[in-house]
Amino acid sequence: MYAEEVAVMAGRIRDEDIALVRERTAIADVISEVVTLKSAGGGNLKGLCPFHDEKSPSFNVSPARNVFYCFGCGVGGDAIKFLMDAEHLSFVESVERLAARAGIQLRYVEDDRSAPRTRPQQGQRQRLVAAHAAAVDFYRAQLTTAGARPAREFLAGRGFDRAAAERYGCGFAPDGWDLLTKHLRQQGFTHDELVTAGLSRPARSGSLIDRFRRRLMWPIRDITGDVIGFGARKLFDDDDGPKYLNTPETPIYKKSHVLYGIDQAKREIAKQGKVVVVEGYTDVMACHLADVPTAVATCGTAFGGDHISVLRRVLFDSDERAGEIIFTFDGDAAGQKAALRAFEDDQRFVGRTFIAVSPDNMDPCELRLAKGDLAVRDLVARREPLVDFALRHVISRFDLDTVDGRVEAMRRAAPLVAKIKDREKRPEYVRKLAGDLGMEIEPVQRAVLNAAHGPQAGGAASGAPARRPGPATPAVDSPRSMVEREALKLALQEPVLAGPMFDAVEATDYQHPVHVAVRAAVAAAGGASTATGGAVWIERVRDACDDLAGQALVGELAVEPLRIDGEPDPRYVSITMARLQWSSVTGRIRDLKSKIQRVNPVSNKDEYFALFGELLSLEQHARALREQAAGGL
Ligand SMILES: [Zn+2]
Repeated sequence: MYAEEVAVMAGRIRDEDIALVRERTAIADVISEVVTLKSAGGGNLKGLCPFHDEKSPSFNVSPARNVFYCFGCGVGGDAIKFLMDAEHLSFVESVERLAARAGIQLRYVEDDRSAPRTRPQQGQRQRLVAAHAAAVDFYRAQLTTAGARPAREFLAGRGFDRAAAERYGCGFAPDGWDLLTKHLRQQGFTHDELVTAGLSRPARSGSLIDRFRRRLMWPIRDITGDVIGFGARKLFDDDDGPKYLNTPETPIYKKSHVLYGIDQAKREIAKQGKVVVVEGYTDVMACHLADVPTAVATCGTAFGGDHISVLRRVLFDSDERAGEIIFTFDGDAAGQKAALRAFEDDQRFVGRTFIAVSPDNMDPCELRLAKGDLAVRDLVARREPLVDFALRHVISRFDLDTVDGRVEAMRRAAPLVAKIKDREKRPEYVRKLAGDLGMEIEPVQRAVLNAAHGPQAGGAASGAPARRPGPATPAVDSPRSMVEREALKLALQEPVLAGPMFDAVEATDYQHPVHVAVRAAVAAAGGASTATGGAVWIERVRDACDDLAGQALVGELAVEPLRIDGEPDPRYVSITMARLQWSSVTGRIRDLKSKIQRVNPVSNKDEYFALFGELLSLEQHARALREQAAGGL
């Protein structure tokens, strides 16, 4: 499917350019912008798969082969494929994005059957990102004009100097109906592109006007640093709009995923293993400037499941290493509600979620202004586990001086303790809750147990979590299975080196059915000796494989390190193929011997001697293979 797409698209971007993009792209760099990668040994890297939910990393990247593969869900391919899957881009858009990264000027060829085009067809995403980049420049230049004085005053009043404004690309949307629209139209952006990007909108008259006017502008970037939208703050009293206005949903701006500041914060988030979630653009700036570089904010929406997914991949949140997520709230009711909702949302996160409530209802920006950088760092340092925060919040609504109040508070708080996934922590919280309520431990314990086994919690809480079945991979338990794997790895990873020797060994020499299927797929893909390697070859074999387990195995074997220290050479290939055949030949010898024993040498003399001759020649072949397997060529 993938290979065919290359062929179709070759009529648009030149083949050489696509090849150059592949060659110049370091897949680990591309992927590590979205997924935190750690060494997996053998020069490979691993991380949490962005394509399926998992707790321990099965997503592998092989920088040497420029391919990735997930052992959990079977997704794999090259850097182009990764962008297509991870960012929902088309093939052309992925190539364009990687080309821009690598500084490669793409050349487009006209499809001779189609009508001549006035300009090369570019991917939509690249056009929309380019329009945003031009808009950032426009707004930034406007910030120095006389009309932008309220914007400059707003920034200065929040403690942000010129350098800070520049670092975050702050700008000003001027007073005028269509200044940006005209500017971008002059730069060649079409009516449709500006509307699709959310930068302009059609007026009642039918002409196009700017979406943002007379506002302080923050460019919103995706995790890779591309500007995909804007946040705009009201500056003037006669502006009837809301305090903050954001880019609407567009093909590149999805507010459920967007985290303001993630492009600047991601490295520190990965390094420190923690992320601080704040509420606004100025809070992110204030935190970063106060040396809390892990701060991000949602843009015009509550923190939700998609944000968690984005963060978990950066945090490398897994059993091996727990990531910490810290919500800051300015102590108002809305913030508390959001914190409690976070508790409901993602149980996997509960034990690692902390709440930092700032004193005097100040947000981090106000806190920095009033009390300095140290106070912001202190706010984050004084975080409290979400469970403690939630219990305190629930209990605070009841009058604990009365028996009724205490009992009711216990009833409401018990389900929260019952929800704590980490069972070992429950007794600790039972004791704490009893202490807070001023009650004996025993009734509190009973209430928690009832809540845990009550009708609502019943099945889901007590049953074991559903495990996703892994791909049906042959166990690497026997020497024969191991050598078959090794041969297939050589064909997939080193076809130029191993191709001729690999192709010379028949599929019948493989024993395991899945290995047979992959060996057959290599032949169906044209044979290993015809391949030049890389992700395209692996895709070709995968496409040629009609066995599902075989397809998964192809991706797995494409990244699994070879069982040799250093680079494989012809000698290693020869040894591997000889061992493989030797296993097969000795199996046949065994079968033959048993057959010969069943043949009567007197009455079936001819058959007996034929089989005996075959046995002798097989034994001779086996000896030769054993010598070859021992290292002689
Ligand atoms: Zn996966």
